[in-house]
Amino acid sequence: MFNKIYEEEVFKRDYRMLFKKNCVLKSCLCGNKKNKLLFELDRYNLLTSVVLCLSCGLVYANKILSLDELKKFYTSDSYRFFYNVLNTRKDDLINDKFIDDQLFDEESKLEPSSIIKKKYSGSSNEVILEFGSGYAQISRSIPIKGKLVCVDYSEKAISYLKKKGIEAYIGGIDVLDKLNYKYDLIILSHVAEHFYDFKNELSHIIKYLKKDGKIYIEVPNLDSKYNLDQFQNAHNYYFTKNTLLHYTSQMDLKSEYVDEKVNGIHLGVIFSKYKNQSFVYDQKSEIKKIIIYNKNFLTLGNFIKKKKSEIYEIIKLLIGISLTVSLRKFIAKFRTW
Ligand SMILES: [Zn+2]
Repeated sequence: MFNKIYEEEVFKRDYRMLFKKNCVLKSCLCGNKKNKLLFELDRYNLLTSVVLCLSCGLVYANKILSLDELKKFYTSDSYRFFYNVLNTRKDDLINDKFIDDQLFDEESKLEPSSIIKKKYSGSSNEVILEFGSGYAQISRSIPIKGKLVCVDYSEKAISYLKKKGIEAYIGGIDVLDKLNYKYDLIILSHVAEHFYDFKNELSHIIKYLKKDGKIYIEVPNLDSKYNLDQFQNAHNYYFTKNTLLHYTSQMDLKSEYVDEKVNGIHLGVIFSKYKNQSFVYDQKSEIKKIIIYNKNFLTLGNFIKKKKSEIYEIIKLLIGISLTVSLRKFIAKFRTW
């Protein structure tokens, strides 16, 4: 356990340095830069910068790691170790794609697969893609009559899938370009919120969707849960139904079925390709709504907790890692007495 404390503190320190040195500034998907800062530390006390766009109401990270650093982060094992160290309770893990990769939760795959079955029925020559698949919980829980292709950055997950006889590749969008397949169904489960550039990446993926194909996108839903659990350094976008449907409509995606409570809290949507889509929502009331969510979250207790974490991080920075670890060890011992 004490080694874990040390590794956790080292990861946090390295991440802080990496973020400070390599973060890039992003504007909103609407092009606007005017925003309101919501969170500077995520659920793990890692640096982030989550803002609300005061033009369209999208919540997003306006400071993120550069694309190169982001790729290194996803392919490294340290973050997996880090998230696993910090999360010991299963209900804490529900929003985290990376931990889902590790856990292979039997129940959580049932709802998405039943949503997919409502709008998609396969055929013997179908090709299905689960992109950012992890262990491909969702695609493997729907009946597949044709072929399944899985793509993910995790070597561990891909070698696991290959052993199961699935056509699986390590990597990202570059793999789709190389394969050049056209898909009947594409599954993006807890992937879109990680995109570096939502519009670019999603439209690149959609290029490989057949004309009458379907795409299932599942993301955390700010409308069903707005608290610190939702905010983590690896997420670049935080959607509500309005903002997801608005930005997907700009990419000629038409929503065919929306479930705002997938596994109780997530947003799952089946889309088909349809030209000249538009999804109109009241942007002013969307902004107001998020401000109210944020206000409701910041109760006195949560506000104090948030400030305490900020102060702890500053103290840790001042006293250095060895003293931090010694102190934490001491506190841990004291607690077990
Ligand atoms: Zn915006």
